[in-house]
Amino acid sequence: MKFRQAKWNEPLIFERSRVGAIGYSLPDPSKTIKKLLPNPLSTIPKNLRRKVQPSLPELSEPEVVQHFTRLSQMNYSIDLGLYPLGSCTMKYNPPMNEEIIKDPNFAQAHPHQDCTTLQGILKILFELQQWLSEITGMDQHSLQPAAGAQGELAGVLIIRAFHVDQGELEIRRQIIVPDSAHGTNPASAAMAGFDVVVVPSNKLGQIDIQALESAVSNQTAGLMLTNPNTLGLFEQEIETIASIVHKAGGLLYYDGANLNANLGRVRPGDMGFDIIHTNLHKTFATPHGGGGPGAGPVGVKQRLAEYLPVPVISFDGTQYYTDNARPKSIGRLHGFHGNAAVLLKSYAYIIRMGWEGLHAVSNHAVLNANYLMKKIESIKGFSIPFAPGVWRKHEVVVSAKPLERDTGVNARDVAKALLDRGLHAPTFYFPAIVEEALMIEPTETFSKAELDRFIKALTEIAEQAYSDPNLVRRAPQNTAITRLDEVKAAHPRTMTLSWRMLQQRDQEI
Ligand SMILES: *Cc1c(COP(=O)(O)O)cnc(C)c1O
Repeated sequence: MKFRQAKWNEPLIFERSRVGAIGYSLPDPSKTIKKLLPNPLSTIPKNLRRKVQPSLPELSEPEVVQHFTRLSQMNYSIDLGLYPLGSCTMKYNPPMNEEIIKDPNFAQAHPHQDCTTLQGILKILFELQQWLSEITGMDQHSLQPAAGAQGELAGVLIIRAFHVDQGELEIRRQIIVPDSAHGTNPASAAMAGFDVVVVPSNKLGQIDIQALESAVSNQTAGLMLTNPNTLGLFEQEIETIASIVHKAGGLLYYDGANLNANLGRVRPGDMGFDIIHTNLHKTFATPHGGGGPGAGPVGVKQRLAEYLPVPVISFDGTQYYTDNARPKSIGRLHGFHGNAAVLLKSYAYIIRMGWEGLHAVSNHAVLNANYLMKKIESIKGFSIPFAPGVWRKHEVVVSAKPLERDTGVNARDVAKALLDRGLHAPTFYFPAIVEEALMIEPTETFSKAELDRFIKALTEIAEQAYSDPNLVRRAPQNTAITRLDEVKAAHPRTMTLSWRMLQQRDQEI
């Protein structure tokens, strides 16, 4: 089956604009149905009517639909097939969640309404806080953070607030992160004003306990960790790690962005962690990507509950209410109740899965990752670094180093060649501790047939690399956009990100 992506020579929507074209038509109230309908314009309060027209493209409705449909055909999405971005948990998002939040009881509620009229939504948010605490082994949650990175920042600010209260912030300046950590971990620690201390992994891809022991001191504010780690390996020594950090007076922060392997099995709170954030837009099946809305609730053990970002949703025995009365809170991170629509979708997901369903997620996610590992291990050109023979959890990191050494075809080329076969690429060149890394997380939502399609594609690419490496290096050829100049594409100076920027640039030329 040959893959070829649609390729439209589609101009910008502003370039398609024709003066006077409109995307709506309203009945003329001076004509026939005056008595039946109010003048639509008269329904808009005078003070809310625009005096100056905004500078928007002018098109008919079908033209707008054509434009965006064409763009979508030049794209790849989770609804087309496997999206194996390691450390990103791209799972299928059931459209039923979208249906549920369209219910006018949710969609038309306004956060400024009196809380007595919002009891239903507040109850849902309250229960979601409790469920997340139950799933992760924490005592309390705040749903405020709008993303994983913001949840991390909230967590590190809680660590900070705790040490301020202990009168120790002056001394406790350091946050420890392993060398395999997600890049947002050291960034969040630095944003909260801490110094970052990196501890190396050992040969088994786990935290080196001796290195950790020499890294902790009375200057340690906390440790940020994810378990299973970014190599997909479970940190066997987690209880020892927790006690080393706690003995030194530090707190343990769990990066719960990718909780797939843990669901219904192990809980970070039981491993000794004090704080966690989860990415609802990864583990709990709400869409993400393209900077779209997310939610990164933050949970804590009881002794840290007073620092949670406000508002927390509370229940006084009769009523649910937004609880702002937390004088030691790190403050607000988002307007109103956080990204309420995302929270509702995850609630709908969890309620339909149930505990058994969440347990089944971890079963299938782990099975899928290990199926891929076993198959890829036998493809010439790829190797599995660290802990050979040890089962992975939700993801597996593969090295294309042998392929690169034998043929000159590197991990990036392999990723591009996958696009040519109608698949999304895995994460590559991360974690940095693996040469020519391809980091693969299949999730539980794809069938064996889809995983086999991926393995077949990788096998073909490796064979092609040995027979005609230049062919692989020229990939992708079958996509709407072929290989980008990645340096240019990542450089803010060379990117034109809006119509206004484009006009300004044209004027300058
Ligand atoms: C995705 C991810 C994050 C960041 O989450 P965002 O919502 O993108 O800010 C943090 N840590 C890990 C391990 C992740 O996979």
